[in-house]
Amino acid sequence: MATETIDTVAVLGAGSMGHGIAEVFAIGGCDVRLRDVEEELVDDGYEQMRWSLEKLAEKGLIDESAETVLDRVSTTTDVGEAVRDVDLVVEAAPENMDLKRDIFGELDELAPADAILASNTSSLSVTEISEATDRPERVVGMHFFNPPVKMDLVEVVYGDHTSDETAETVHEFAESVGKTPIYVRKDVNGFVVNNVLVPFMEEAAWMLSTEDVDIRAADAAMVFRRGYPMGPFELADYTGIDIGYHARKEAGREVPPVWEEKVSAGHNGKKSGRGYYVYDEDAADDGEAVTGADYEHGQGEGFDTLRIEARMINEAAKLVGNDVAKPEAIDVGMRLGGGLPEGTCRTADKLGLDVVHEKLVDLHEETGADRYEPAEYLEELVEAGHTGEKAGQGFYDYSHGGPYHYVDHAVDDDGVLRVTFQRTERLNSFNADMLDEIHRLLREADPEEVACVVFEGAGDRAFSAGADLTAFPTAEPKDMMDADEVFETLYEFERPTIAKIDGYCLGAGFELALACDMRVATEDATFGTPEIDLGVIPGGGGTQRLVRLVGEVRTKELILRGDHVDAETAADWGIINRAVPEEEFEATVEEYVSDLVNGPPVAQKVAKKVINEGQDASLDAALSMESQGFGVLVSTDDMLEGVSAFKNDREPEFEGR
Ligand code: NAD
Repeated sequence: MATETIDTVAVLGAGSMGHGIAEVFAIGGCDVRLRDVEEELVDDGYEQMRWSLEKLAEKGLIDESAETVLDRVSTTTDVGEAVRDVDLVVEAAPENMDLKRDIFGELDELAPADAILASNTSSLSVTEISEATDRPERVVGMHFFNPPVKMDLVEVVYGDHTSDETAETVHEFAESVGKTPIYVRKDVNGFVVNNVLVPFMEEAAWMLSTEDVDIRAADAAMVFRRGYPMGPFELADYTGIDIGYHARKEAGREVPPVWEEKVSAGHNGKKSGRGYYVYDEDAADDGEAVTGADYEHGQGEGFDTLRIEARMINEAAKLVGNDVAKPEAIDVGMRLGGGLPEGTCRTADKLGLDVVHEKLVDLHEETGADRYEPAEYLEELVEAGHTGEKAGQGFYDYSHGGPYHYVDHAVDDDGVLRVTFQRTERLNSFNADMLDEIHRLLREADPEEVACVVFEGAGDRAFSAGADLTAFPTAEPKDMMDADEVFETLYEFERPTIAKIDGYCLGAGFELALACDMRVATEDATFGTPEIDLGVIPGGGGTQRLVRLVGEVRTKELILRGDHVDAETAADWGIINRAVPEEEFEATVEEYVSDLVNGPPVAQKVAKKVINEGQDASLDAALSMESQGFGVLVSTDDMLEGVSAFKNDREPEFEGR
C-alpha cells in the first residue's frame, strides 16, 4: 500500500479540465497552485472555480464556504513557482504529445525529486510522456472526466515504467478527494471507458454507413429497449463526431464513412448546430425542421441492439484478457464515466457470452472486418462453458450468488452490519440487481452475528432517490414488483434496523427506510413518494407502512400529491425518529446504534415481532401476542442479567439467551 501523503498539488492548465481538477483538490482540502501560460487564462480559470464553488455552496454540496475553499488556491504563470515543494503535479494542457513532453521535461527539472507527475491526457501514451523525464516510474495517467467536479470517475493509468507505489499513491489520493478511481494497468489507447464506449457510437455509425439504418430507430432502441441514457447518434452529437473521428484516426484505426462525411461537412454535432440531428435553424437546410434528438418510445422495434452491445463487450473482453482492467473496474468505469445504467461485463453475463460470441462470429464471417473478430478471452470463456450468469460463471463468478455491484457491506467488531448503497451516479436509485443484492445480504445475514443493521447512501446527495426510472420501460414488470418482497424481508429481520438518511429519500428509497425500525436524518434530508406523478403508486409496501405510521390524512397527502416534505416536517409527522444538524448526524446515529447493539437480543426480537404483527391483529389478539412474548422473556438468562445489573447499578451484559 502507498504510504505517501499528498497535501500540495500543482495543476498545469486552467482550461476546461484544469480549473475543475484544481477545484476538486481544493474541496478535498489540498493546497493547490493553478498555472497557465498567461495571466488572463489563469484568472479566467480561477473565476470559473469561484462561480462553481458558489453554486455548490448554495446547494449545500460543500461543507465550507466558497471563499474558504478558494483560500487554498493560488494562481501563477510561473511554472517554477507552481511546482515548488509540491507532492503531485497534474498536467491538463492541450492534447499534444510534443507539448506534453516539453512540459514533463521541464517539470522533471523544477519539481521536487520525489513529486509524482501525472497527466490528464485522454488519448496520448503515458509511457511516451514519462520518457521525457528521468523519473518515468513516478509518472502516471490521472484521467478525469468532464466536468471533473461532477464526474466521480478517475482512471489511474500505468505507463510501462510507472511503479506500483506511484499508481497506488495517486489511487488513494483520488479516493481521499471524493473520487472513485479505477486502475488501467497498461498504457492502451483509449484506456478503459473510451475503449468500450466509442464502439457504442462507432458501430451505430457503421450500421448507418453500410445499411442505412434509421437513426431514430437506433437511438430509441438503445434507450427504451436497452436502458442506455442516450442513443448512440444522440451521444455522438452531444460529445462531437469530430472527437471520435480524430481519436480513431490518430490511433490508426478505420473510421465509418459517415464520420468522414459529417466531419468534412462540418456537421460535428450539437456544438455546430447539426450532426445526425439538426439543432439550430442557422445550420438547417432550406425547409428543414430543427428537431433535435426527437426519437420516441416505440420507434426502436426491430433494430439490432445486440450488434452494438457485442462490439462493446468484445472490447471489454480484450481489456480483461490483456490484464488492462478487471471486470469490476470496467463496470465501475462504464457506470461512472460512461453513464451506463449497469457495467458492460455485467450486461454481457446477462445476455450470455455464447450469444455475444456467435453474433461476432457471424458479423466477422459476413464482413471480414477485424473489429468483429472475437477477443481471445471471450473465446476462452465460451469454450470453458463460462457463458454468463445462467452458467454460474462468465466475466463474474455467480457460484455464491455473484458479486455485489451496488452495495458495500461489512460487519464491524460490535456486530453492526453497515450497508452502503453504492450508486452515486444515479443518486443511489435501485435497479433490479441492487434490490437482489440487498435481499441476498439480508437473507444471508446471521442474526447471531449481526446485532443491528444500518443502511445509508454513498455520497452526500441521496440516501436513495427511488427506483431507477431508466429501468422502467426495459425491466420486466415482475422485476419492479420484487421490491415488496425485499422490504418485507427487511421489516421482518430479527435484529433492529436503522435508516441513516442524508439527502433525497424518495420513492422506493423511502419505502426501504419505512421498512426499517428507525429513521435518523439530517435536517436537509427530503422525503416523498413521487410515484403518482409517474402514473403509479408505491409498490414496495409504502402505502401500507405509511398509513400505519402516520394515519390516513398524511398518507393520502403524501401519496396523492406526490410532493416532497423536508426533514423537520417528516419528524413532526412521525415519519422519522429524529432530524439533526449535519454536524450531529454521525454521533446521533451512533448513539442509536450503541443502544441497540448493547440491548438484549431475544427481547428485541420479541418486541419487534409483537409490534409488527400486533398492528394487524385485533386488540385482544395483539395483547395475547404480547403476553405470550412476555412469558417467553421472563424465563431468559438475559432477564436475570438485566434485573441483577439494575440492582447492582451496573451496565447489563446480555448473552442473547
Ligand atoms: P483546454 O484547451 O480547455 O485547456 C488547456 C489549457 O492549458 C489552456 O488554458 C492553455 O492555455 C493551457 N496551457 C497550454 N500550455 C500550457 C503549459 N505549458 N502549462 C500550463 N498550461 C498550459 O483543454 P482541456 O479540454 O482542459 O484539456 C486538457 C487536457 O485534458 C487534454 O490533455 C485533454 O485531452 C484532457 N481531457 C479533456 C477532457 C475534456 O472533455 N475536455 C476530458 C478528459 C481529459
